[in-house]
Order: sequence, then C-alpha cells, then structure tokens
Amino acid sequence: MIKEAAHYEKRPDNRVICHLCPFNCRLRDEQKGICKSRFNRGGELVTDNYGELVTLAVDPIEKKPLYHFYPGADILSTGPNSCNFQCLHCQNWTISQRKTSTFYVSPEKLVETALGHNSIGVAYTYTEPLMWYEYILDTAPLLRREGLKTVLVSNGYISPEPLEELLPLLDAANIDLKSMRPEFYRKICKGKLRPVLDNIKRMAESDMHLEITNLVIPGKNDSEEELSELVNFIASLSDRIPLHFSAYFPNYRMNTGATPSDTLLKAQDIARKKLKYVFLGNVALPDGSNSYCPECGYLLVRRSGYHTVTEGVRGGKCRNCGLETGIVQ
Ligand code: SF4
Repeated sequence: MIKEAAHYEKRPDNRVICHLCPFNCRLRDEQKGICKSRFNRGGELVTDNYGELVTLAVDPIEKKPLYHFYPGADILSTGPNSCNFQCLHCQNWTISQRKTSTFYVSPEKLVETALGHNSIGVAYTYTEPLMWYEYILDTAPLLRREGLKTVLVSNGYISPEPLEELLPLLDAANIDLKSMRPEFYRKICKGKLRPVLDNIKRMAESDMHLEITNLVIPGKNDSEEELSELVNFIASLSDRIPLHFSAYFPNYRMNTGATPSDTLLKAQDIARKKLKYVFLGNVALPDGSNSYCPECGYLLVRRSGYHTVTEGVRGGKCRNCGLETGIVQ
C-alpha cells in the first residue's frame, strides 16, 4: 500500500530529501531511495510498503533474540520487504535485498491477529523494520491500548528526530551492533557506525528494554581489541544490557568460513569481565544461553533450544537472593 512518508523535506524542482535515516537521500521525481521502499512521486515522498508483510509467524521471543523481556513468551513476528543497509553477509537477503511477494495487513488486523495467537505483542523483525516507520507508528498505539507490546529488532540506523518520535511507542528492542569500526560499516554494510552508537546510547537512556546483538565474523570484527571495545561501549551504558554474540554463517555475498566456537567462547570471556548477561546464539554451546543471577549465581532462566524455564526469577527478582535482575516479566 502506498502512503505519504513521514520526515521529509520538499525542495524546488519537485525534489525531496528523506530524513528518516542518516542517508538523507535526495530524490528527483520517480527516484527511489537506497532502501528502495521510499520514492519521490510528483514532489511528494511516499512509501510503497505500508502494511505489506513478507511473512507473519508466531515465534518464541528468544528467537528475536530477546532473553530478558518476557522470557518464554510467544510474539507475533513480521517484517517489510526492505532494508537501508546492504550487508554483504545478510542472513535474510532474499527478503531484505530482493523484491519479493508481500501481503497487506492493516494495523487493526495485525493487532487482532496478535490477540488471537496469545502473543505478548508484535515484533518487527526479519528485515529492517525501521523502513516500516509509518506502519509501526500507526500500529503501536493500537497494540498498547490492548495491553500488547511493540518490539523492534533493527540495525538502529535512523535519524535523531524520527527516533525521538518512535521511542515512547517501543517496549523493547534488540539492536544489531555489527562492529566498532567505521570501515566495517562503510565497506560491508554501506552505512555509518556513529549514528548506530548514538542511537543505542539514546535507547539505553529511555524507558524501553534494550538488548544488543553482535554477529561475530572471522577476520572481520573478531579481534580481541574490537570485541573489548564493543563490550566497553555497552558497559559504559549499563552492565545489565544483555549482549548476544551470534555465530555467522556464509551467506549472500560473503564466503568467509563460519564462526568457530572458540571465537565465541573468547568473546564471552572478554564480555563477562564487564557485563552481567552475555549469551551465545546461532550455536549450541554449554552455558551459552542461560541467565544467572549476577549477585548470587542462581540459575534464573534455563534455555535449551527454544525451550525456556523461568523458575529462578519471579516478578523480575532472583528467587534465591531477591536481586532486581532487570528481567521484564
Ligand atoms: S529511509 Fe530510505 S529513502 Fe529515506 S534516507 Fe534512508 S535510505 Fe534514503
């Protein structure tokens, strides 16, 4: 469905400038932005993917991954056929980088579907949900009215003004911090690092629940120096932010070999010196996915695949020592 886009500027000669993300695409009539989902139609910026879903599924919230936001719950998950990055290693490139079939679901119908599936809300995920800005803005208040949650799984590449408008509507997010090197973002993702760091910082200051994912790619972002830098950055915001190190597998335009388990274990060792909750994803390693109390070491949440047992935590508190764990339940 086509809809006028938010956050753009009209210029002379029917040109427009999109201000949704830091690319600030300047578009002449009929020209599409880098994300390929916003274009200039006669001097007006429009989006052609409003409410157009590539898929709709009920997933365990752990799959997003979110480990400390209603652990064990199911969440209705969906995403648009668009992304503003062009990561060479994209794990979902068939739906983020290529045109594919979609189906329209109105905001009201999406809420109704979430209610009908015993879901805690809607997760905007799989591709780049920020390219669904207007759809999320319209749907989130309807979800909240029904007591449901809005969850974002994103590259975090959005401009400050639209982020400020979106933040009060979000309940939780997992942001992909791909690297601490500007050249990684420039060469591999075709984007910039700084706005992502700024947005993570802003999200950490807000009321919503935040987790971070880092896909560890051999030879690209897995040096001890860089992993330490990433951990120090997160720890400077809060040592309670859950960090997920995720195993990479060759895909799309990158054929570097998969992440060895030893590299993930090294990353985990580095991170555990500064952060309370560190997880290993996309791989089955002993002790890679359980949550332990940072105070007394009690097992708070036990995870095996997507089977989750939350007996060690009640109302967000450790059942052994009573510590406020930061787990939202
Ligand atoms: S959202 Fe799309 S059109 Fe707008 S600035 Fe970003 S890439 Fe360009």
